[in-house]
Amino acid sequence: MEIPIYKTYCGKCKKEVEAFVRERIFENNTHHLEARCPSCHKFFKYLPHPVDPAVDPLDNLILYFGKYKGQRVVDIAKKDREYLTWVYESATSLKEGVRDKIDEILARG
Ligand SMILES: [Zn+2]
Repeated sequence: MEIPIYKTYCGKCKKEVEAFVRERIFENNTHHLEARCPSCHKFFKYLPHPVDPAVDPLDNLILYFGKYKGQRVVDIAKKDREYLTWVYESATSLKEGVRDKIDEILARG
């Protein structure tokens, strides 16, 4: 994924800087580009995320709990389908939309 260049004025460093941009994935599986000052690390803003149409968003779904925390659900489905099925069947408190997506991934076979 391409990281955009974001130039802004840092009030702390009192100069124009090219922000340090990195991708962050939040617990609700949304991806954000976080822009910070490269020298003082002051947080500027979250930039709109460029969507890569070639990547199925399902493939980017990250499990945010359990033994495979931080891993992609599609990868977990490949190596431990039993666990993923268990998550789907027993975890009733999954965040909105996550359960449906797991179901979709499991349905792919
Ligand atoms: Zn700064």
